[in-house]
Amino acid sequence: MSIIVQKYGGTSVGTIDRIRQVAKQIADRKALGNDMVIVVSAMGKTTDNLISMAYELTPNPDKRELDVLMATGEQVSIALLSIALNDMGYHAVSYTGHQVEIKTEGIHTKSRIVDINDGNILEELNEGKIVIVAGFQGVNEENEITTLGRGGSDTTAVALAAKLQAVCEIYTDVDGIYTIDPRLYPGAKKLEYISYEEMLEMASSGAGVMHSRSIEVAEKYKVPVLVALNTGDIPGTIIKELDNSMEKSAITGLAVNSDEAMITLNGVPHDIKIIADIFTNIASKDINIDMISQTTPVHKLVSISFTLPKTDLYQATQLLDLYKERIFTFSYESFENIVKLSVVGIGMKSQSGVAAKMFDILAQNDIAVSIITTSEIKISYVINPEDQQKAIEAVAKEFDL
Ligand code: ADP
Ligand code: ASP
Ligand code: MG
Repeated sequence: MSIIVQKYGGTSVGTIDRIRQVAKQIADRKALGNDMVIVVSAMGKTTDNLISMAYELTPNPDKRELDVLMATGEQVSIALLSIALNDMGYHAVSYTGHQVEIKTEGIHTKSRIVDINDGNILEELNEGKIVIVAGFQGVNEENEITTLGRGGSDTTAVALAAKLQAVCEIYTDVDGIYTIDPRLYPGAKKLEYISYEEMLEMASSGAGVMHSRSIEVAEKYKVPVLVALNTGDIPGTIIKELDNSMEKSAITGLAVNSDEAMITLNGVPHDIKIIADIFTNIASKDINIDMISQTTPVHKLVSISFTLPKTDLYQATQLLDLYKERIFTFSYESFENIVKLSVVGIGMKSQSGVAAKMFDILAQNDIAVSIITTSEIKISYVINPEDQQKAIEAVAKEFDL
């Protein structure tokens, strides 16, 4: 008998009716003789609402308390789903991250799963129960409640599947992984398969359909992941190791990220020790910097631009204010109104000229770019939000996405 780990996202459990629907689907699979472990997210926009209440109180809420607050969302949905299944005559039991012992390390609101104690789950499965686990949350060495970063329930599911050597199915409000977020570009094409490597780049570049850490875990433990519509009756996309069944076109997908901000530092002394000091200080606050570009020195001063999550902007600017006092030439500007587009494709490894083609497309469409970075299988560029649609359409047309 195989263990199936299924995860249902926020929209999929957004109302009581939907919870009932999900419970029926789980029951059907259980009736076929499978052991079912279910991970759920908080209902609908619950997490957003919880966070905005905290930010109504202060621009810089305590991260430990944010974790305590956010973890309540999933506790509601696990209990409701369990109640629905029990009412249908099945034995279901809900578990918080703390109760399972989903052990995490790292800072509050961005913790990482390091291990899972599967003892409780296996015992419940042996007794024929359906186990419902709260996504997105864990517990650290100090016995504190932690969360895994927005969208982290995917990672709970993949980590559980890895630990239990189970099948992993992610059910969401879209029927698979598309070349481009279909909400932004309805003409996008659904992929039958996508490699871990490409999905990881897509997810970490803003394709919010999967939590990027979940793909790292899937790749590490070689867990194939099905992403499909929450009704469970339409073939979805399988994320797996690269093989010959996958197309190796230059570009597989385009990710759009509107959750990043850009900071430009001006009047920075062209002294690597000072620059290193600034970035070390930013890193010490666990702020993840993504793209960086630096100008050539003029009168021994440089400008440096970089991107970071909008949620870390306040903390970063507080830190940079200290440099204003220390270095008299130093100033900075922050820009919240930016979009980062990233084209991703394993084919870039073997096909040259993709970057040149991208520049050509941007030039032809009069799209101004402020930062560009490239890696082996990705090219990212920051543009103005007003140019977003034009850029998506031009890239999609050129690369047949
Ligand atoms: P859930 O609540 O189920 O975790 P999410 O909102 O986190 O759902 O993820 C699903 C959403 O991801 C879709 O509604 C879609 O708009 C978005 N998305 C972004 N990029 C892609 C993509 N390349 N393919 C499919 N969906 C995408
Ligand atoms: N509820 C959490 C969030 O909204 C986790 C998740 O949905 O995966 O970010
Ligand atoms: Mg999600």
